[in-house]
Formats: sequence, structure tokens, C-alpha cells
Amino acid sequence: MKNMRTTTGRNFLFVPGPTNIPDRVQRAMMIAMEDHRSSKFPDLSTSVLRDLKKVYQTEAGQVFIFPSSGTGAWEAALTNTLSPGDKVLAFSFGQFSHLWIDMAQRLGFDVQAVEVEWGEGVPLDRAEEILRADKGHEIKAILACHNETATGVTSDIGGLRKAMDAAGHPALLAVDAVSSLASIEFEMDAWGVDLAVSGSQKGLMLPAGLGILATSQKALKALETATSRRCYFDLADMIKHNPGGYFPYTPALPMLYGLREALDLIEEEGLDHIIARHHYLAEGVRAAATEGWGLKLCAKEAKWNSDTVSAIMVPEGFDGAHVIDVAFRRYNLALGAGLSKVAGKLFRIGHLGDLNELMLMGAIAGSEMAMLDVGIKVEPGSGVAAASNYWRSNDPVPKHRVSKEEQFYEGHSTGSAQG
Ligand code: PLP
Repeated sequence: MKNMRTTTGRNFLFVPGPTNIPDRVQRAMMIAMEDHRSSKFPDLSTSVLRDLKKVYQTEAGQVFIFPSSGTGAWEAALTNTLSPGDKVLAFSFGQFSHLWIDMAQRLGFDVQAVEVEWGEGVPLDRAEEILRADKGHEIKAILACHNETATGVTSDIGGLRKAMDAAGHPALLAVDAVSSLASIEFEMDAWGVDLAVSGSQKGLMLPAGLGILATSQKALKALETATSRRCYFDLADMIKHNPGGYFPYTPALPMLYGLREALDLIEEEGLDHIIARHHYLAEGVRAAATEGWGLKLCAKEAKWNSDTVSAIMVPEGFDGAHVIDVAFRRYNLALGAGLSKVAGKLFRIGHLGDLNELMLMGAIAGSEMAMLDVGIKVEPGSGVAAASNYWRSNDPVPKHRVSKEEQFYEGHSTGSAQG
């Protein structure tokens, strides 16, 4: 009886991407195919390219969309701006930062990979020290993973820019924003990011299938001299076709319609609200894990905490993969697995995209039941209670982020309720 699974109801998807797709976005993708060379098509393509710039918070930059996943945009970032043998500085502190380094090595760059303990992020002092020592400016690019999805760690990219400036180093700053864009503050222009990689299946609330790359003007200049071999991901082809609203090959039409709808949703909620909401929801999950269950996060200090994914360490002697399997088989709940070095040591709750408190309560309750089922002695109901305490005593969007108009309506509705 205990192993039987309830087959009714929805699957609870709480991996940190792909995320839940809003019904409006899902419906927007249900379309008949169209001619991507028609005179109407540019209305769609130019509008999504324009509005993605707002999500990246860039006016000076340019955005490119590839029919790939985020990994394709990683490759586009590197091959369009670097030449074989170019020196690259990178920091490895989780599976995704590791995989980008692995790609850079396989593409023939000379990668100085700095190993950092998993649970920490980009070490700013160390970065500055290395850059200061590179007097001849041999390092052509710095690769940094903004949000390491495998460990639930967010790095300080604005701080990295400051370290580069303090060292007076001209390298390109290439950032993986796959699991941070449209959910954690990402200020491309203000932070002087040259290459910002993302994908469709996380904060943008779409299926996987679009690799998105934003470039600074400095990165586009590097394109002129970069000799890495490239074809499918050559930005020059995009630059030739995009201004007219077309692509060098057949675009993924339903994805672009879905993206249009997702960008409308983002505009309606407001990027500021979205970022504040992610923080508030993340705080509730962190309260469940640490105060409720008494467990540790993989993130070693609060400053590394990610607002899009929490990696929760299981106690010694238990297997995180077992918790994940029971959650899936018994309770129809999909949790993120521990990858590579942290395999079996943790499980991850993704809290990004189209979410609210009660959806997360399902993930917290399901994780708790699965932990109890495998013998982890957490207090039944303790995670839900801690999250509830946090959410009930905090505002989803702090007052300073609420517009005057909203404050007016809030006051108005309270008044009439009292009346
Ligand atoms: N970078 C990060 C931080 C990720 O979380 C992921 C995927 O989860 C990737 C890169 C790779 O993206 P994709 O799986 O879309 O190729």
C-alpha cells in the first residue's frame, strides 16, 4: 500500500528547470505553423529581441536567439569572441561551472580553472589577484556562473566587475545567467557584462529549446578578430538577418510565440516584483529546510544563497537520490538531484518561474513525507510550519518596490474592507 502512487492530480514539477509553464504561455504556443519568411513575421521576431533586452537590463547590448538549449549559447559566446589557444580564466564550484570549463577546453582554449569549494561562488579577492598578476593581459575572457544550479549558489557579478576594474583588466566578462535571468537581479549594462548566456526553460517559463545570448558592443567588436571555427552559431549570420526580422535558418515558431507571451507576463508583473517575489519565496523554502527540518543548505554562507534553487543536504548515512525517488514514485513530486561531487548528498527544490506560496507548500510537504519515508527524522509538519511563519509575516514584495499606484489600491481596499 505504501508504495502505491496516487495517479490523479498534477505532477509537482520542482526541478530547477524546466519550470512550470503558465497556462497563457502554453496556449500561446498552440498555433498553426506560419511562413517565417512572410512580411508579418518580423513583427514577432523584432519585438521579442527588443523586449529580451529589458529582461537583461541592457540598452547598449544586442540579443541573439538560437534554436538550442543554454549549452548552445555557451558555445556561441566562446567561439564568436575567442581564438584557439586564447587564455581564459574560470571558476569551478559546481556541475554547471565545471561543464562550461570543460566545453572551453574542448574548444581549444587555454583555461585557467580555479577550483573553489562547492557551496561557495566566485572568489572576488582571488579573481582580482590573478588579474593583477596578469600584467601582459594574456587572459582574454573570464567565465563566471552567476547562479550555480547544482549547489544553489549565487555569485556577485557586480563585485566581479569591480575586481576586474580595480585590476585594470580588459578581459571580456562572460556570464552564465541560465538559472538567474528573469528571477535574480541581473544588470548587464551596470555590471559591464560582455556575454550573458541564458535558456528558455527557467525564469522565462518556456520549454527548453531556445539558447539566448546577449552581447555588449565590446563583445561584438571581438567577433571581428576571433578566429575560432564556427558555423551554426556564427553571430555574423544572425547580424545579417536579424535587423530585418529574420533568422539564417528556420526559427522555432511556437517557442517564439511562447516567448512573446512570457515577455508580456514579465512586463505585467514587473521585473522588480519578479525579483522580489523570488527572494520572498526562496526565504520560505530556506526557513523550511533550516529552521523546520534542521538541515543545512549546500550554500556555505547566507551571502551565497540562491533565490532560484535550494540544495538541501541530507543527513550523513542517507541517500538524497532515495528521497528524490520516493518523492517521485510515491508523491508525484519531481525534485532536483545531486549532481557529480554532491550526488546522493542532497536534493534540490527549484523555486523559480511561475510559482506561489501554496505550490511551494506542496514541494515542501512532499519532500518532508519522502524524507520521513526513507527514515530521516524530521518533525512532521515542521517544514510547512516554518515556511508558513515566514510567508505569513512578510510581504511578497517589499513596500519600497511597490509602485505608488499599487499602494493607493492597497490602502483603498483595506479601507473598504474595514468599512
Ligand atoms: N548553466 C546552468 C547554470 C544551468 O543550470 C544549465 C542547465 O540546467 C545549463 C547551463 C545548461 O543549459 P541547457 O541544459 O539548457 O543546455
